[in-house]
Amino acid sequence: MDIKDYKGVMVYIEQRRGTLQNVSLELLGEGRRLADELGVELIAANIAEHADELSQTLIEYGADRVVEYSSPDYAYYMTEPYTQALFHAIDTVKPEILLLGATSIGRDLAPRVASRVGTGLTADCTSLDLKDGMLMMTRPAFGGNIMATIACKNHRPQMSTVRPGVMSKLEREKGRTGKIEKVDFTPEKNSQYVEILSFEEKKSEKKDIKEARILVSGGRGVGAAANYDKLERLAATMDAEVSASRAAVDAGWQPHSQQVGQTGSTVRPDVYFALGISGAIQHLAGMEESEYIIAVNKDKNAKIFEVADLGLVGDLHKVVPLVAEKLEEIQASKKNF
Ligand SMILES: Cc1cc2nc3c(=O)[nH]c(=O)nc-3n(C[C@H](O)[C@H](O)[C@H](O)COP(=O)(O)OP(=O)(O)OC[C@H]3O[C@@H](n4cnc5c(N)ncnc54)[C@H](O)[C@@H]3O)c2cc1C
Repeated sequence: MDIKDYKGVMVYIEQRRGTLQNVSLELLGEGRRLADELGVELIAANIAEHADELSQTLIEYGADRVVEYSSPDYAYYMTEPYTQALFHAIDTVKPEILLLGATSIGRDLAPRVASRVGTGLTADCTSLDLKDGMLMMTRPAFGGNIMATIACKNHRPQMSTVRPGVMSKLEREKGRTGKIEKVDFTPEKNSQYVEILSFEEKKSEKKDIKEARILVSGGRGVGAAANYDKLERLAATMDAEVSASRAAVDAGWQPHSQQVGQTGSTVRPDVYFALGISGAIQHLAGMEESEYIIAVNKDKNAKIFEVADLGLVGDLHKVVPLVAEKLEEIQASKKNF
């Protein structure tokens, strides 16, 4: 492979049954920054049952060019047809960089595509930079104790996955123009093709913690599953969601969907309550970009206080009910107005 033949930054656009995923818009924002610095095009690889419905939005979020792969084969995510389409996009466009979301889909698709193209992949990056035109991909290593910066010197594209919530999307520029190319490509129904017989969506009563504006997060200091009632009560006063540290999830007090951190979700709410959470590096990796962090911990030396905007040394079992009570009073007085 002659790496000089590869130009441009490509973002794989993730949609689920036609709904654009936020992570792709965040990657378009980051891709725009990289493309501008390199002086190249930002290309969106748009693979969907009705890809044309999404293309203009992608341009308004920063893409210069959209390559559109539309087919009923892409109605649901399946490894083989998506791999074939993305491989085709790489083979024809030859981008020097390819970014995907580190979602369940991205984590399935990226390694398959990397292996088919014959290039490397750096998964779960937390930052991306350029040095002498090469992509510097930084991610936690050795259990999050060090940050490793990885380069892909001899192969293209330089591939990276990034978790939702890590990068920022651009403001939408309504009416922005760019090139939209419909690609004539039909995936081959080979032996690795699976057939989806039916699809049942799992309904969760909990909201996605990545979308929450306020998170009330509890750690091992909460002490027991039943004690989360106190956190639920506080959350209810602010239309917030309850989340947790891994210690609380491992103890079975909260489901994994609520876990914040390196092996959970990366969140960026307006307000993050860290209650009985020590502030291990793997937890901080998932929440330190929150706008305002309020920590309650009985240990005044807890690391969480190093990232907190407001810290309270105390017993959460006393503090949380008091704050909930105060907020309930405020709400009641507003209703009586
Ligand atoms: C590869 C790897 C990936 C990981 N991924 C994650 C991840 O995604 N998310 C994550 O969270 N962790 C992750 N961890 C685990 C992480 O290292 C910590 O073990 C974990 O975050 C600790 O959770 P915690 O803060 O709730 O518990 P602890 O570290 O035990 O802290 C409990 C805190 O509660 C305080 N406390 C106790 N009682 C009270 C009370 N009554 N009132 C107030 N404060 C009180 C204590 O002072 C203490 O600071 C990972 C680890 C590894 C090796």
